Amino acid sequence: MSLRVRLIAALLATSLLSVAIVGIVAQQRLMRKFDDLVLARAARNFTGDVAAYWLTYGSFEAGLRAEPFRHFSLRRSALLRQPELRPNMAGTGGPGPDTGGPGTAEALPPWTAADADADTPASPPDFAPSPLDPGRGLPPFRFVLFDPSGKILSPPSETGRALRPEEQQNAIPIAVKGRIVAFASPLGIVNYSPADRAYIAAMWDAIVWGIAVAALTAIGLGLVVGNRLSASLRELTAAIRGMQQGSLRQQVNIASRDEVGVLARAFNAMSDELAESHERLQASHLTISQQAEQLREQAIRDSLTGLYNRRHFDERAASTLQYSIRHGHPMAIAIGDIDHFKSINDRFSHAVGDAVLREIGELVRQHLRSSDLAARYGGEEFVFGFPETDLAEAADCCERLRQLIEAHPWRQIHPDLRVTISIGVTAERSLGGLDAMLAAADHHLYAAKLHGRNRVCGADEDAEAPATAVSATQDLRVRTA
Ligand code: GH3
Ligand code: MG
Ligand code: MG
Repeated sequence: MSLRVRLIAALLATSLLSVAIVGIVAQQRLMRKFDDLVLARAARNFTGDVAAYWLTYGSFEAGLRAEPFRHFSLRRSALLRQPELRPNMAGTGGPGPDTGGPGTAEALPPWTAADADADTPASPPDFAPSPLDPGRGLPPFRFVLFDPSGKILSPPSETGRALRPEEQQNAIPIAVKGRIVAFASPLGIVNYSPADRAYIAAMWDAIVWGIAVAALTAIGLGLVVGNRLSASLRELTAAIRGMQQGSLRQQVNIASRDEVGVLARAFNAMSDELAESHERLQASHLTISQQAEQLREQAIRDSLTGLYNRRHFDERAASTLQYSIRHGHPMAIAIGDIDHFKSINDRFSHAVGDAVLREIGELVRQHLRSSDLAARYGGEEFVFGFPETDLAEAADCCERLRQLIEAHPWRQIHPDLRVTISIGVTAERSLGGLDAMLAAADHHLYAAKLHGRNRVCGADEDAEAPATAVSATQDLRVRTA
């Protein structure tokens, strides 16, 4: 599960749980408060009724003989809700908080004036029809009424039993003319009137709507905040993945000052350092590779001509020859020697001799196939290996090289300079090895020198010397094959 999903889920769970807790707590607190209000109102009504009953009839027992308390209570309630029915109230403006006392009680019907004298005063507005309880059908609370000695007076069904401790504890005193005449204690649970139930339903509706709106807001905010909080982490993760895939230089654009911002800045710095050290490493690796390649080249090449050196030629030619012998493929070996090179050095300088060697190296490179091997074998001698080539082809190739060297514009180096080469070639694989073939080629080279130089000798060592051939010199060395 991605961090984003977990973050959003955590935010949603927290928000929705908070909303649910707020809803439950609000509902319970409201219901408790509502019950308290209902109880307070019912208590005021009841104690007012009792006090009025007492004032009207002198005592509760006397009242019971004259009129049932319930009947009295209903009658009083109806009259209080309809002021025009109050016979003595028109001139008084209604009973006020201070209209109590014996004198006032005589001027007003006792059951209307009594409230003012009760210790739990009930002013007229309190007795006015409440939006919560417009009717007086079933009382919201039933009360047990008992006298100061603890004798239950009402309801009739409860008289005779002993008071319960909680009834004594919750007892509300009822005073008439400054004397506590009885106590009222609520019985059982509240009976809601239709108006109360409508109010509770409205309250519930408000709470449910509130919870629904809060939940939707929490979901919306959870998604937005979760996405926003995780966005920077997603960016960081993508950059780290990029690094994993080889793009070491990654930069994340997170400017926050929180831990993710710290992480991002550290990551950017780390990425920079890593990329730079990687680039440095790559550069030094390239340098090392180039140097290694140069060293390898130096190890296998002749520095003057750029051709292979003798050691490398021997290795390559020996293995190629072994391959050719094993598979019955043709292979030719040739040795070339510049004619009268000593006199070139002597006549034109050693530097000119070196230039001639370089030029011949270049001509050899241009002329031979890439699969052919060519090396400076020492001094002014060159050696060639022709894989997959028979004697005729090799001799032909050598002849073309000879002609190329002869025809080269040597006068660009010196006006009087002329350069030729003699080449001996063999394809006698039956000789059994490279050394033997080199000896055979050298033998043919000797023959070429002997027959006038500037020529290629192979099988037919009695070939006629070309017209342009430099005449054989007296210093021909006898080559030992
Ligand atoms: P031939 O036609 O019989 O081959 O005569 P040659 O003069 O070419 O033969 P010789 O072996 O007598 O002379 C070879 C000369 O090559 C001797 C040496 O001074 C010269 N030489 C060898 N290596 C180099 C080199 O690297 N640079 C130069 N300039 N001369 C070299
Ligand atoms: Mg030589
Ligand atoms: Mg020579």
